[in-house]
Amino acid sequence: MGSVMTKITNHLPTAELQALDAAHHMHPFTDDAALARKGARIITRGKGVWLTDSDGHEIIDGMAGLWCVNIGYGRRELAEVAARQMEELCYYNTFFQTSHVPAIALAAKIAQLAPGDLNHVFYAGSGSEANDTNIRLVRRYWDVKGQPQRKVIISRKNAYHGSTMGGASLGGMSGMHAQGGLPIPDIVHINQPYWWGEGGDMTPEEFGIARARELEQKIQEIGADRVAAFIAEPIQGAGGVIVPPETYWPEIQRICDEYGILLIADEVITGFGRTGNWFGSQTMGIRPHIMTIAKGLSSGYAPIGGSIICNEVYRTVAESGEDFNHGYTYSGHPVASAVALRNLEIIEDEGIIDHVRNVAHPYLAEKWKGLTEHPLVGEAQLVGLMGSIALTPDKERRARFAAEPGTVGYRCRERCFANDLIMRHVGDRMIIAPALVIRPEEIDILIERAWKSLDECYAEIK
Ligand code: PLP
Repeated sequence: MGSVMTKITNHLPTAELQALDAAHHMHPFTDDAALARKGARIITRGKGVWLTDSDGHEIIDGMAGLWCVNIGYGRRELAEVAARQMEELCYYNTFFQTSHVPAIALAAKIAQLAPGDLNHVFYAGSGSEANDTNIRLVRRYWDVKGQPQRKVIISRKNAYHGSTMGGASLGGMSGMHAQGGLPIPDIVHINQPYWWGEGGDMTPEEFGIARARELEQKIQEIGADRVAAFIAEPIQGAGGVIVPPETYWPEIQRICDEYGILLIADEVITGFGRTGNWFGSQTMGIRPHIMTIAKGLSSGYAPIGGSIICNEVYRTVAESGEDFNHGYTYSGHPVASAVALRNLEIIEDEGIIDHVRNVAHPYLAEKWKGLTEHPLVGEAQLVGLMGSIALTPDKERRARFAAEPGTVGYRCRERCFANDLIMRHVGDRMIIAPALVIRPEEIDILIERAWKSLDECYAEIK
């Protein structure tokens, strides 16, 4: 037994909450011992794009939590829907020839919103689980098609597809692969279309084609008859908001079409309005067979994810004459589904995607680009409401802070945090993905705090 419990509420002093957190709570993607020495920042409330911490600071959340709170914090409608659904039917599964209204209604809504013939939804509890589903699904698809040798899934270095064994294997994060003997077999990675960092002397257009052709080379190396699918985020998110050169996606689409490879678009971040369309695939002009969804699907109000599946893949697997032996207890959880449905209605009814377009271009885009006038900032990229800046010691040479990778980004993030702005860093890239409801005056505050933090960081390292 641990220590005797006092009632733990928002009213406890910060130091006490921090001590309890350090004693009993192991954090994801965290050096827990270092955090225990410093103490976690305790977030107590959220409203719109704003968070409050246990010391009463008002923080502007430039990351919408983990890129998920698309409609902003504190929407009572979602709390009401959840309460109603919990009373009416808190849980039932969809395994053994049963279904329920929230799962049905949400799937129908997603099918209506998704482009092309992406008409079928398989539910998961998260983006990672959904990507595990995708591995099972595409391999099952090729089995039923009489091509069981098609097992290999091609992904990209520095991609993020989740933290389960399957998700982390699909992902291309070397730090994750190093812990746990990943990737699992038959998942391989090609280079990412990161022009600023890796483009050398090529123009962005040349580089986009060159990196896309690596897919073709990899298919030829493995043998086209062994490749099941290619998976990618339309815009890499956790890798540092890397917007590919314009030539990249058309060439990838050509290659997938030519070799008959299934295309999986991981829309966990780019879905549900983030890029100024319902899906990033529409923004990038691609036609995936499967989309991975999570995060903005419920705006983070309830844990839910899934795969949206095209007619051909669905029919092949569904009409195989056998069960698809896969599912999660919380696939299509009624409360999460009801909350997600209401969230999608809010995005639609309140014109939130139009708002993203209006506020992103030119308002945020101009100010974001303006950051490149800061001595520390090289490029600035923005699509809809996801953006990145590259910190550099030498803009002309597109140099990276090589000696201590990540140090400057980390410092900059710390300065932001101290200035009540949440921005994330990935190596030396600083990124934003605020709630889609952010207002122009809040963009001004975000930019002002970003400038201040960059100035302080610059002063520190000079
Ligand atoms: N795919 C992408 C593109 C993501 O960004 C994430 C999470 O950040 C995931 C998958 C994993 O989602 P989850 O954390 O819900 O498992």
